[in-house]
Amino acid sequence: MPSEPAPADPAAAAAAQAHIAALVEQRVPYPRRVFCNRNLRLDRIRFIGFDMDYTLARYTEQMEHLQSELVLERMVDHYGYDRSILAATYDPRFAIRGLTVDKLHGNVFKMNAHRFIGRVWHGAAPLDPETRKSLYTNRKVSPRDDRYVMVDTLFSLPEISLYCQLVAAFDAKPDGISKPTYARLWDDLRSAMDSLHRDGTLKAVIRADLARFIEPDPELAETLHRFRSAGKKLFILTNSEPDYTEAVMSFLLDGRYPGYARWRDYFEFVLTSGRKPTFFSTEDPFLDVSDELVIGSDPSTVFRRGGLYAGGNLFDLTRLTGMIGDDVLYVGDHIYGDILRSKMHTHWRTAMVVQEMERELTQVLEHRDALDRLYGFEERRFQLDLELTAKALDGERDSALRNEARNLGREIARLSQEISDAFNPTWGMLFRDRAELSAFGAQSEDYACVYTSRVSNFRLYSPQWYFRSPRDRMAHELRV
Ligand code: IMP
Ligand code: MG
Repeated sequence: MPSEPAPADPAAAAAAQAHIAALVEQRVPYPRRVFCNRNLRLDRIRFIGFDMDYTLARYTEQMEHLQSELVLERMVDHYGYDRSILAATYDPRFAIRGLTVDKLHGNVFKMNAHRFIGRVWHGAAPLDPETRKSLYTNRKVSPRDDRYVMVDTLFSLPEISLYCQLVAAFDAKPDGISKPTYARLWDDLRSAMDSLHRDGTLKAVIRADLARFIEPDPELAETLHRFRSAGKKLFILTNSEPDYTEAVMSFLLDGRYPGYARWRDYFEFVLTSGRKPTFFSTEDPFLDVSDELVIGSDPSTVFRRGGLYAGGNLFDLTRLTGMIGDDVLYVGDHIYGDILRSKMHTHWRTAMVVQEMERELTQVLEHRDALDRLYGFEERRFQLDLELTAKALDGERDSALRNEARNLGREIARLSQEISDAFNPTWGMLFRDRAELSAFGAQSEDYACVYTSRVSNFRLYSPQWYFRSPRDRMAHELRV
């Protein structure tokens, strides 16, 4: 009898595979890589759904300026604010995603993964250390406390910058003059911005000059084509209305790739006015949308190829398409509406688009040496702390070690500030809060299977690619 072949060492086989994947991945420039939190085999994916705004459609900074101008005007025209607020100007370098507003005190802060508060800003400057300490030290923020609002879409960045400027402007007014409370100010700003989205004012300006507000990605069409060639069924699930979706998508895709005259040729079906996140939990029916882009009143009973629908819910989507759950990859930019809620209610796999990562990763490359030095110092400080604690337990005081720790602490603070300044002088890096993950980083890690800076980065990988998480093994499994 032939002898049985020796069983392959699974750990060695996995390591070899990971090594090959890493070599292939090195071809892809770092700012354009797809990063993996949970293993994702694209060959198992049958449906790929896309959010539209800030996912397929990348807005330019002009969009933020437009929102800011319109919202201030609306606060004057509809909310009774004095015209002097029109002097506030939007600062596109100020806010990042994942910040939290404390409506009660008019502060904005960044939290770490454990929801502890790090940097705090009030008006035009950092909050003074004493107040900061008394309000926030060792306080954990509850997401259920409606005094706090976490800002997690790129659409909301202008609100943060303007809020801080308006807080500063009202603080500077003498006592006795009527001013809104900090909470009222935030609520009015939020409600004014909300109304601009809902009543079509914002979208009318964008539609009149799409090229000013949206930057088409020259590789998007080919990316979608490659997915389709590999047998994937593509669809859109957006909260935008049918007419706006039609305008934006035809601007992005009409006539951009041979064989696809119209943008709808790429998609099996297009779901608009989706009302995510409630889409994942309601029973609202899908409604047909006519060729004139008018929403009908009868529930849709089938999806036509390339058809446009409005409303709907997850259950009907599954019933009408035969999706199973883990055969769907949903690509979106909103950590809550697109990623977290779809993960809670479905088995969909998720890809998060973080547009601003491209710039941040380019900066990581530029500051690689400084970052490596910082991580080295932090490790050394950790060791020193352990040694000092051990000695203290033995009743010893080692002044040389103490000096080293003190100097290292100073060097770490200096280097951290230098690095932070290069990313965002006020808030530092998007995914980090000093030595910890930021709250936004932690949420992205918890809920996004993969994340990347733009949809077309998938073009740099095979449509059958196996994205492997570096963390799919526990420490004891790595070496036997
Ligand atoms: P999606 O990202 O493609 O799902 O679409 C986002 C939609 O939400 C766009 O139509 C935005 O105009 C809309 N939107 C963004 N922020 C707000 C808001 O604060 N209130 C109402 N609609 C919003
Ligand atoms: Mg979006």
